[in-house]
Amino acid sequence: MLKGKCAIVTGATRGIGRAIALKLASLGFNIVINYRSKDSEAETLKAEVEALGVKSLIVKGDISKVVEARELIEKAKEYFGTIDVLVNNAGITRDGLILRMKEEDFDNVIEVNLKGTFNCLKSVSPIMIKQRHGKIVNISSVIGLIGNAGQVNYAASKAGVIGMTKSLAKELGSRGINVNAVAPGFIDTDMTKELSEKAKEVIQTSIPLKRIGTTKDVAEVVGFLVSDASDYITGQVINIDGGMVM
Ligand code: NAP
Repeated sequence: MLKGKCAIVTGATRGIGRAIALKLASLGFNIVINYRSKDSEAETLKAEVEALGVKSLIVKGDISKVVEARELIEKAKEYFGTIDVLVNNAGITRDGLILRMKEEDFDNVIEVNLKGTFNCLKSVSPIMIKQRHGKIVNISSVIGLIGNAGQVNYAASKAGVIGMTKSLAKELGSRGINVNAVAPGFIDTDMTKELSEKAKEVIQTSIPLKRIGTTKDVAEVVGFLVSDASDYITGQVINIDGGMVM
C-alpha cells in the first residue's frame, strides 16, 4: 500500500534513526537517509535499506543549518517527487549541571534538537500542504515532560519539540497532515552508552516493565504513526518508556 512513498529520516545512520529507517523501508517506503558526519555508516544503511526492495537517497547535512536542512528537503522532493513522511530524529546531548554548563552546550543542543527540527518542518510544510497529505513524527523525549538534573538544555529542547508538534498539528490538520511526537524513555544507543552499568541497573529497576528500551521499540511506534492506521491521530505525544512516566 505504501509502495512508492518517500520518508525522510534525519539522523538516520545510528541508533533510533537507523531502526526507524529500516522499519519504514520494511513497510515499503523509499528512504532519504540524512546524517551529519559518518559517510560509511550512511552507505552501509543504504545497502540494508535497498536490500528490503525500496530505493534510497543519502543526503548528508547538518539540520541545524537552515540552508542544509532546506537542501535535504529539496533534494528528497527532486529525487522522489513526493515527501510523504518526515521523521525529525536527529538529536544530541551535552549534559552538565547548570553551574558547569557552558553557554555553547546550551546553544548547541537547542540549535540541533529544536531549531534543526524547526528548519526541517519549515521546508517540508509547503510541500505537504500542496500535496494535501503528509505524516510528521518528531522524536522528543520523556525528559521534555519530566525534566532531569544535568539536562536543562536537553529538557528545554525536547519540551520545545512537544510545543512545536502541538502547534503545527493545529496549523496543518485542515490540510490532511498529521503531526505527532514520540517520547522515548531510556533507549540503548550510543547516546546512552556513557552511563555506568550501575546507573543503568538503577534506571532499569525503576522502570515498570523492568528493561531498558530498544531502538525497535521506538521504530515500531513510528511505523504505526506513519501508517494509515493512525489517520485520526494528530498533536499527540506517545511515551515509549516501559511505563517510566505515567
Ligand atoms: P545517537 O545514537 O547519538 O544518533 C544520533 C543520530 O543523529 C546520528 O545519526 C547523528 O549523525 C545524527 N545527528 C546528530 N546531529 C545531527 C545534525 N545536526 N544533523 C543531522 N544529523 C545529526 O542518538 P539516539 O539515541 O539514536 O537518539 C535519536 C533521537 O532520539 C534523538 O533526538 C534523541 O534525543 C532521542 N531520544 C533518545 C533517547 C535514548 O535513550 N537514546 C531517549 C529519548 C529520546 P552523525 O553520527 O553523522 O552525527
